[in-house]
Amino acid sequence: MDLTFSDVDIAFREEVRTWLAEHRPRDKRPLERSAMREYDVAWQRTQFDGGWAGISWPKEYGGRGASLIQALIWFEEYGRLGLPGIDACFVGLSHAGPTLMTRASEDQKAFHLPKILRGDVVWCQGFSEPEAGSDLASLKTKAVIDGDELVVTGQKIWTSFADVAQYQELLVRTDSDAAKHKGITWVICDMTLCGIDIRPIETMDGEHEFCEVCYDDVRIPLTNVVGRLHDGWSVAMSTLAFERGTAFTVNQVRLAKVVEDLIAEARHRTGPDGRRPAIVDDEIARRLAKARAEVAAMRAMTYRGISRSSRDGSPGPKGSIIKLYYSDLAQSIYRLAFDIMGADGLHFVDRWTPGGWSGSYLYSAAISIGGGTSEIQRNIIGERVLCLPR
Ligand SMILES: Cc1cc2nc3c(=O)[nH]c(=O)nc-3n(C[C@H](O)[C@H](O)[C@H](O)COP(=O)(O)OP(=O)(O)OC[C@H]3O[C@@H](n4cnc5c(N)ncnc54)[C@H](O)[C@@H]3O)c2cc1C
Repeated sequence: MDLTFSDVDIAFREEVRTWLAEHRPRDKRPLERSAMREYDVAWQRTQFDGGWAGISWPKEYGGRGASLIQALIWFEEYGRLGLPGIDACFVGLSHAGPTLMTRASEDQKAFHLPKILRGDVVWCQGFSEPEAGSDLASLKTKAVIDGDELVVTGQKIWTSFADVAQYQELLVRTDSDAAKHKGITWVICDMTLCGIDIRPIETMDGEHEFCEVCYDDVRIPLTNVVGRLHDGWSVAMSTLAFERGTAFTVNQVRLAKVVEDLIAEARHRTGPDGRRPAIVDDEIARRLAKARAEVAAMRAMTYRGISRSSRDGSPGPKGSIIKLYYSDLAQSIYRLAFDIMGADGLHFVDRWTPGGWSGSYLYSAAISIGGGTSEIQRNIIGERVLCLPR
């Protein structure tokens, strides 16, 4: 590993720390969907005005153009302050935007990238379907070419933020006779088009992050196709590489803070013997120490990955190792939080409220599914990192 912080990086950290401390949102992130959207885009716009939006986006697209190491510093400081993620802008910033940069036409880039960066628009991802999740190439949502339009019919599911989004990165089948991975097209869908029906899905933590989206003869201009017609699988692979490669960095940093908060919680909360603080209990102390060590190990892995990406340019399949490790670790930490809370854990507090251990515990079940399940990450590691037979 070759990762050292230069004097320039150290000065950069100081600048980030000062700016975030001054401009961080002071109010709690609201739970109601449209208020949450407004909160997220306002925070994105503040970052844009301060010159921090799109920290690792190239300068030619209006980003900060920071090196990978400086992006890491930004995420470390962001996570250290426990700042809320800009979840509504996540798809646009973390994978639709980067996919457009590498695969879209100049007109598409000029129209969409500045809007994403300024927080003018929210994007969502229409990839998964009821019968196509891990095996994404089985997707059935159909698009027929009619003149200069695609006419889309079908259904997507688990579409985060579809209820508040203006645009969607949508995968459709444009050639049903071609082999499974061929005949798919990646198209920009305007979510206000006629024939789109968006139905929120309530999850077990009471949130409505996801939606089911139905398309009934939705007419999308062919000029919205990104890359070539029928070649959407290769475009989608670029999208997923961004999603799996860099998107989890800030969550990892946040997890380190969660462990420290949990240690503080265990110091003043009564432990299993009903008398002494939880931290005095041998088993809880052992699990907390293990969590702290594992978070440090994950940080080392992240540094190693960033060091490698700085040399090779892309995280590649090794990004799956960190995603898998993070998922397992986050779930074990929130299980531990629940054990420390004891009966108080049954009192629900949403995950956006400080001390919202119960909400975070319930949400943690999703971590090993979103962005590709842990089983799929294991397959990728087995086949593409360890070169085991399929
Ligand atoms: C928080 C969150 C946010 C999401 N946001 C979006 C979004 O915005 N847009 C979107 O399109 N999708 C989104 N998803 C959906 C997500 O991508 C899918 O849930 C995921 O890809 C798994 O697909 P599935 O749910 O259909 O499960 P399935 O693919 O049906 O899998 C069911 C089980 O079988 C296992 N399995 C399947 N295939 C294999 C295999 N080959 N080897 C071993 N085990 C296997 C899986 O690991 C899993 O345990 C989101 C999901 C979550 C949890």
